[in-house]
Amino acid sequence: YTLTDVSRHFVSGSRGRKTTVHALDGISLSIAKGSSTGIVGESGSGKSTLARLLGALDAPSSGQVLFHGQDLTRMSKQDMRAFRRKVQFVFQDPTSSLDPRYTVEDTLREALHTHGVTDPAQVARRFTELSDQVRLPKSLFGRYPRELSGGQRQRVAIARALAPRPEVLIADEPVSSLDVSIQAQVMDVFRDLSANDGLTLVMVSHDLALIRDVCDNLVTLYNGTVMESSQAAAYYEQPMHPYSSALLHSMPNPRHIGRLPDVLALGEPADPTSPPPGCRFHPRCPRAQDLCREQIPALTAMPDRVLACHFPLTVPAVTAEVGER
Ligand code: SF4
Ligand code: MG
Repeated sequence: YTLTDVSRHFVSGSRGRKTTVHALDGISLSIAKGSSTGIVGESGSGKSTLARLLGALDAPSSGQVLFHGQDLTRMSKQDMRAFRRKVQFVFQDPTSSLDPRYTVEDTLREALHTHGVTDPAQVARRFTELSDQVRLPKSLFGRYPRELSGGQRQRVAIARALAPRPEVLIADEPVSSLDVSIQAQVMDVFRDLSANDGLTLVMVSHDLALIRDVCDNLVTLYNGTVMESSQAAAYYEQPMHPYSSALLHSMPNPRHIGRLPDVLALGEPADPTSPPPGCRFHPRCPRAQDLCREQIPALTAMPDRVLACHFPLTVPAVTAEVGER
Protein backbone atom coordinates (compact mmCIF):
# COMPACT_ATOMS: atom_id res chain seq x y z
CA TYR A 1 0.00 0.00 0.00
CA THR A 2 1.05 3.54 -0.68
CA LEU A 3 -1.02 6.40 0.67
CA THR A 4 -0.38 9.92 -0.50
CA ASP A 5 -1.88 12.94 1.23
CA VAL A 6 -5.05 11.07 2.11
CA SER A 7 -7.84 12.94 3.87
CA ARG A 8 -11.28 11.82 4.92
CA HIS A 9 -13.72 14.48 6.08
CA PHE A 10 -17.30 13.89 7.14
CA VAL A 11 -19.70 16.79 6.80
CA SER A 12 -22.64 16.75 9.15
CA GLY A 13 -25.37 19.11 10.27
CA SER A 14 -27.80 21.13 8.21
CA ARG A 15 -27.42 24.31 6.19
CA GLY A 16 -25.93 27.16 8.16
CA ARG A 17 -24.75 24.83 10.90
CA LYS A 18 -22.49 22.54 9.02
CA THR A 19 -19.58 20.94 10.81
CA THR A 20 -16.75 19.06 9.19
CA VAL A 21 -15.16 16.20 11.07
CA HIS A 22 -11.52 15.85 10.06
CA ALA A 23 -11.29 12.10 10.55
CA LEU A 24 -8.04 11.96 8.59
CA ASP A 25 -5.92 14.80 7.25
CA GLY A 26 -2.95 14.49 4.91
CA ILE A 27 -1.97 10.90 5.65
CA SER A 28 1.08 9.67 3.74
CA LEU A 29 2.53 6.27 4.47
CA SER A 30 3.36 2.93 2.96
CA ILE A 31 2.73 -0.60 4.13
CA ALA A 32 5.07 -3.27 2.80
CA LYS A 33 3.82 -6.61 1.54
CA GLY A 34 4.17 -9.29 4.18
CA SER A 35 4.67 -6.82 7.02
CA SER A 36 2.51 -6.52 10.09
CA THR A 37 1.56 -2.99 10.88
CA GLY A 38 -0.18 -1.69 13.95
CA ILE A 39 -2.26 1.45 13.65
CA VAL A 40 -2.26 2.91 17.12
CA GLY A 41 -3.62 5.93 18.94
CA GLU A 42 -6.44 6.92 21.22
CA SER A 43 -10.05 6.48 20.24
CA GLY A 44 -11.17 9.07 17.74
CA SER A 45 -7.69 9.39 16.22
CA GLY A 46 -8.87 8.06 12.85
CA LYS A 47 -7.58 4.48 13.14
CA SER A 48 -10.77 2.76 12.01
CA THR A 49 -11.32 5.28 9.23
CA LEU A 50 -7.84 4.50 7.94
CA ALA A 51 -8.52 0.75 8.13
CA ARG A 52 -11.73 1.20 6.15
CA LEU A 53 -9.89 3.15 3.45
CA LEU A 54 -7.29 0.39 3.16
CA GLY A 55 -10.06 -2.13 2.67
CA ALA A 56 -11.97 0.07 0.19
CA LEU A 57 -14.97 0.06 2.53
CA ASP A 58 -14.78 3.83 2.27
CA ALA A 59 -13.11 6.27 -0.12
CA PRO A 60 -10.86 9.23 0.72
CA SER A 61 -12.18 12.79 0.37
CA SER A 62 -8.87 13.60 -1.28
CA GLY A 63 -5.54 11.93 -1.88
CA GLN A 64 -4.71 8.50 -3.16
CA VAL A 65 -4.72 4.98 -1.76
CA LEU A 66 -2.70 2.68 -4.00
CA PHE A 67 -2.58 -1.10 -3.70
CA HIS A 68 0.12 -2.64 -5.89
CA GLY A 69 0.09 0.67 -7.76
CA GLN A 70 -3.66 0.57 -8.38
CA ASP A 71 -5.86 3.42 -7.16
CA LEU A 72 -8.64 1.85 -5.10
CA THR A 73 -11.17 4.42 -6.28
CA ARG A 74 -10.44 3.76 -9.95
CA MET A 75 -10.52 -0.01 -10.10
CA SER A 76 -12.57 -1.87 -12.63
CA LYS A 77 -15.40 -4.02 -11.27
CA GLN A 78 -13.36 -7.10 -12.03
CA ASP A 79 -10.26 -5.80 -10.24
CA MET A 80 -12.41 -4.78 -7.29
CA ARG A 81 -13.81 -8.31 -7.05
CA ALA A 82 -10.28 -9.66 -6.93
CA PHE A 83 -9.37 -7.02 -4.35
CA ARG A 84 -12.32 -8.06 -2.16
CA ARG A 85 -10.97 -11.59 -2.08
CA LYS A 86 -7.38 -10.52 -1.43
CA VAL A 87 -8.19 -8.12 1.40
CA GLN A 88 -10.19 -9.53 4.30
CA PHE A 89 -11.45 -8.00 7.54
CA VAL A 90 -11.83 -9.08 11.12
CA PHE A 91 -14.03 -6.72 13.09
CA GLN A 92 -14.24 -5.93 16.76
CA ASP A 93 -17.41 -7.82 17.61
CA PRO A 94 -17.64 -11.41 16.31
CA THR A 95 -21.19 -11.77 17.61
CA SER A 96 -22.59 -9.26 15.17
CA SER A 97 -20.41 -10.42 12.27
CA LEU A 98 -21.44 -14.09 12.45
CA ASP A 99 -24.78 -15.43 11.29
CA PRO A 100 -26.50 -17.01 14.34
CA ARG A 101 -28.17 -19.64 12.10
CA TYR A 102 -24.85 -20.94 10.78
CA THR A 103 -22.63 -23.48 12.48
CA VAL A 104 -18.88 -22.94 12.31
CA GLU A 105 -18.72 -25.43 9.47
CA ASP A 106 -21.53 -23.67 7.55
CA THR A 107 -19.78 -20.33 7.93
CA LEU A 108 -16.45 -21.63 6.72
CA ARG A 109 -17.93 -23.72 3.92
CA GLU A 110 -19.80 -20.70 2.63
CA ALA A 111 -16.65 -18.57 2.76
CA LEU A 112 -14.78 -21.23 0.78
CA HIS A 113 -17.61 -21.66 -1.74
CA THR A 114 -17.83 -17.90 -2.30
CA HIS A 115 -14.21 -17.97 -3.31
CA GLY A 116 -14.45 -20.97 -5.57
CA VAL A 117 -13.36 -23.82 -3.29
CA THR A 118 -16.13 -26.39 -3.71
CA ASP A 119 -14.40 -29.73 -4.12
CA PRO A 120 -15.32 -31.71 -0.95
CA ALA A 121 -11.81 -33.08 -0.43
CA GLN A 122 -10.34 -29.61 -0.81
CA VAL A 123 -12.93 -28.13 1.54
CA ALA A 124 -12.10 -30.79 4.14
CA ARG A 125 -8.39 -30.04 3.81
CA ARG A 126 -9.01 -26.32 4.24
CA PHE A 127 -11.15 -27.00 7.33
CA THR A 128 -8.17 -28.75 8.91
CA GLU A 129 -5.78 -25.96 7.95
CA LEU A 130 -8.08 -23.24 9.22
CA SER A 131 -8.74 -25.12 12.44
CA ASP A 132 -4.97 -25.29 13.04
CA GLN A 133 -4.36 -21.68 12.04
CA VAL A 134 -6.88 -20.21 14.47
CA ARG A 135 -6.49 -23.00 17.06
CA LEU A 136 -10.16 -23.89 17.06
CA PRO A 137 -10.67 -27.67 17.41
CA LYS A 138 -12.73 -29.27 14.68
CA SER A 139 -14.89 -30.83 17.39
CA LEU A 140 -16.48 -27.38 17.70
CA PHE A 141 -17.28 -27.06 13.98
CA GLY A 142 -20.85 -28.30 14.51
CA ARG A 143 -21.67 -25.54 16.97
CA TYR A 144 -23.66 -22.36 16.52
CA PRO A 145 -22.22 -18.97 17.54
CA ARG A 146 -24.36 -18.91 20.70
CA GLU A 147 -22.76 -22.19 21.78
CA LEU A 148 -19.27 -20.72 21.56
CA SER A 149 -17.35 -18.40 23.86
CA GLY A 150 -16.46 -14.89 22.68
CA GLY A 151 -12.88 -15.99 22.00
CA GLN A 152 -14.04 -18.99 19.99
CA ARG A 153 -16.42 -16.82 17.99
CA GLN A 154 -13.59 -14.44 17.12
CA ARG A 155 -11.48 -17.44 16.01
CA VAL A 156 -14.32 -18.39 13.66
CA ALA A 157 -14.36 -14.84 12.28
CA ILE A 158 -10.59 -15.02 11.75
CA ALA A 159 -10.88 -18.42 10.06
CA ARG A 160 -13.59 -17.09 7.76
CA ALA A 161 -11.33 -14.16 6.82
CA LEU A 162 -8.46 -16.57 6.11
CA ALA A 163 -10.60 -18.95 4.05
CA PRO A 164 -9.89 -17.28 0.66
CA ARG A 165 -6.13 -17.15 1.47
CA PRO A 166 -6.06 -13.36 1.54
CA GLU A 167 -2.97 -11.32 0.87
CA VAL A 168 -4.01 -8.72 3.45
CA LEU A 169 -5.83 -9.19 6.74
CA ILE A 170 -7.17 -6.05 8.38
CA ALA A 171 -8.20 -6.46 12.00
CA ASP A 172 -9.92 -3.58 13.77
CA GLU A 173 -9.56 -3.91 17.55
CA PRO A 174 -10.08 -7.67 17.18
CA VAL A 175 -9.92 -8.50 20.87
CA SER A 176 -11.34 -5.44 22.57
CA SER A 177 -14.82 -6.94 22.86
CA LEU A 178 -13.37 -10.04 24.56
CA ASP A 179 -12.72 -10.86 28.15
CA VAL A 180 -9.32 -9.53 29.20
CA SER A 181 -8.30 -13.03 30.31
CA ILE A 182 -8.58 -14.46 26.79
CA GLN A 183 -7.39 -11.46 24.76
CA ALA A 184 -3.78 -12.67 24.80
CA GLN A 185 -4.76 -16.11 23.51
CA VAL A 186 -6.51 -14.66 20.49
CA MET A 187 -3.58 -12.30 19.94
CA ASP A 188 -1.37 -15.41 19.78
CA VAL A 189 -3.25 -16.40 16.64
CA PHE A 190 -2.40 -13.04 15.09
CA ARG A 191 1.20 -13.36 16.24
CA ASP A 192 1.48 -16.65 14.34
CA LEU A 193 -0.16 -15.08 11.31
CA SER A 194 2.26 -12.14 11.41
CA ALA A 195 5.14 -14.60 11.06
CA ASN A 196 3.73 -15.66 7.70
CA ASP A 197 5.62 -13.67 5.09
CA GLY A 198 2.89 -14.07 2.53
CA LEU A 199 0.32 -12.26 4.64
CA THR A 200 0.19 -8.53 5.24
CA LEU A 201 -1.40 -7.88 8.60
CA VAL A 202 -2.86 -4.51 9.53
CA MET A 203 -4.05 -4.26 13.08
CA VAL A 204 -5.91 -1.34 14.58
CA SER A 205 -5.41 -1.16 18.32
CA HIS A 206 -5.45 1.26 21.19
CA ASP A 207 -3.50 -1.22 23.29
CA LEU A 208 0.26 -1.07 22.78
CA ALA A 209 0.88 -3.88 25.26
CA LEU A 210 -1.32 -6.35 23.39
CA ILE A 211 0.19 -5.81 19.95
CA ARG A 212 3.75 -5.71 21.16
CA ASP A 213 4.58 -9.21 19.91
CA VAL A 214 2.44 -9.01 16.80
CA CYS A 215 3.40 -5.90 14.84
CA ASP A 216 6.77 -5.09 13.35
CA ASN A 217 5.77 -1.58 12.31
CA LEU A 218 3.62 0.99 14.05
CA VAL A 219 1.79 3.98 12.68
CA THR A 220 0.75 6.38 15.41
CA LEU A 221 -2.22 8.56 14.64
CA TYR A 222 -3.38 11.56 16.58
CA ASN A 223 -6.38 13.63 15.68
CA GLY A 224 -6.35 12.34 12.10
CA THR A 225 -2.67 12.86 11.36
CA VAL A 226 0.42 10.66 11.45
CA MET A 227 2.64 11.50 14.40
CA GLU A 228 5.12 8.72 13.88
CA SER A 229 5.62 5.72 11.67
CA SER A 230 8.30 3.41 12.94
CA GLN A 231 9.82 0.01 13.42
CA ALA A 232 8.08 -1.42 16.45
CA ALA A 233 11.29 -2.40 18.24
CA ALA A 234 12.60 1.16 18.01
CA TYR A 235 9.27 2.54 19.09
CA TYR A 236 9.09 0.48 22.25
CA GLU A 237 12.77 0.80 23.09
CA GLN A 238 13.20 4.47 22.51
CA PRO A 239 10.10 6.53 21.91
CA MET A 240 11.08 9.82 20.31
CA HIS A 241 7.74 11.41 19.63
CA PRO A 242 6.22 13.05 22.72
CA TYR A 243 2.81 11.59 21.87
CA SER A 244 4.19 8.08 21.40
CA SER A 245 6.05 8.36 24.67
CA ALA A 246 2.88 9.42 26.46
CA LEU A 247 0.95 6.55 24.86
CA LEU A 248 3.60 4.06 25.92
CA HIS A 249 3.48 5.43 29.41
CA SER A 250 -0.20 4.59 29.61
CA MET A 251 0.58 0.89 29.01
CA PRO A 252 0.03 -1.26 32.05
CA ASN A 253 3.39 -2.00 33.70
CA PRO A 254 5.47 -0.06 31.19
CA ARG A 255 8.94 -1.50 31.04
CA HIS A 256 10.23 1.92 30.25
CA ILE A 257 9.23 4.80 32.39
CA GLY A 258 8.69 7.67 30.01
CA ARG A 259 9.80 11.09 31.01
CA LEU A 260 6.42 12.37 30.03
CA PRO A 261 3.19 11.78 31.86
CA ASP A 262 0.57 9.28 30.87
CA VAL A 263 -1.34 10.48 27.84
CA LEU A 264 -4.55 10.39 29.85
CA ALA A 265 -3.12 12.96 32.24
CA LEU A 266 -2.60 15.40 29.40
CA GLY A 267 -6.25 16.28 28.96
CA GLU A 268 -8.75 15.53 26.25
CA PRO A 269 -7.85 14.90 22.59
CA ALA A 270 -8.51 17.82 20.25
CA ASP A 271 -11.96 18.30 18.75
CA PRO A 272 -11.91 16.74 15.26
CA THR A 273 -14.31 19.41 14.00
CA SER A 274 -11.78 22.16 14.67
CA PRO A 275 -8.29 20.71 14.74
CA PRO A 276 -5.71 23.06 16.27
CA PRO A 277 -3.21 24.83 13.99
CA GLY A 278 0.41 23.72 13.89
CA CYS A 279 1.09 20.40 15.54
CA ARG A 280 -2.25 18.89 16.49
CA PHE A 281 -0.84 17.57 19.70
CA HIS A 282 0.39 20.96 20.91
CA PRO A 283 -2.50 21.72 23.30
CA ARG A 284 -1.59 18.57 25.26
CA CYS A 285 2.14 18.36 24.64
CA PRO A 286 4.41 19.17 27.59
CA ARG A 287 7.19 20.08 25.14
CA ALA A 288 5.16 22.46 23.01
CA GLN A 289 6.73 25.78 22.09
CA ASP A 290 5.62 28.70 19.90
CA LEU A 291 6.83 26.97 16.75
CA CYS A 292 4.54 24.01 17.48
CA ARG A 293 1.50 26.27 17.64
CA GLU A 294 2.35 27.94 14.35
CA GLN A 295 3.89 25.38 12.06
CA ILE A 296 2.79 21.87 11.20
CA PRO A 297 5.83 19.64 11.76
CA ALA A 298 6.81 17.83 8.56
CA LEU A 299 7.26 14.07 8.57
CA THR A 300 11.03 13.61 8.82
CA ALA A 301 12.77 10.36 8.00
CA MET A 302 15.25 8.78 10.39
CA PRO A 303 16.91 5.37 10.08
CA ASP A 304 14.26 3.49 12.05
CA ARG A 305 11.25 5.79 11.90
CA VAL A 306 9.52 8.76 10.39
CA LEU A 307 8.55 11.49 12.84
CA ALA A 308 6.39 14.61 12.78
CA CYS A 309 7.69 16.69 15.66
CA HIS A 310 9.64 19.93 16.00
CA PHE A 311 11.23 18.84 19.28
CA PRO A 312 11.52 15.07 19.45
CA LEU A 313 12.88 13.34 22.52
CA THR A 314 16.50 12.72 21.63
CA VAL A 315 17.53 11.09 24.86
CA PRO A 316 16.01 7.65 25.43
CA ALA A 317 12.94 8.04 27.57
CA VAL A 318 14.26 5.38 29.90
CA THR A 319 15.04 6.18 33.46
CA ALA A 320 15.77 2.77 34.89
CA GLU A 321 16.06 -0.80 33.84
CA VAL A 322 16.34 -2.97 36.87
CA GLY A 323 18.94 -5.69 36.56
CA GLU A 324 20.57 -4.30 33.44
CA ARG A 325 23.60 -2.12 33.01
FE1 SF4 B 1 4.98 18.45 20.98
FE2 SF4 B 1 5.79 20.37 19.35
FE3 SF4 B 1 6.48 17.86 18.88
FE4 SF4 B 1 3.98 18.63 18.54
S1 SF4 B 1 5.75 19.35 17.38
S2 SF4 B 1 4.65 16.78 19.54
S3 SF4 B 1 3.73 20.10 20.19
S4 SF4 B 1 7.09 19.12 20.65
MG1 MG C 1 -11.83 2.32 16.18
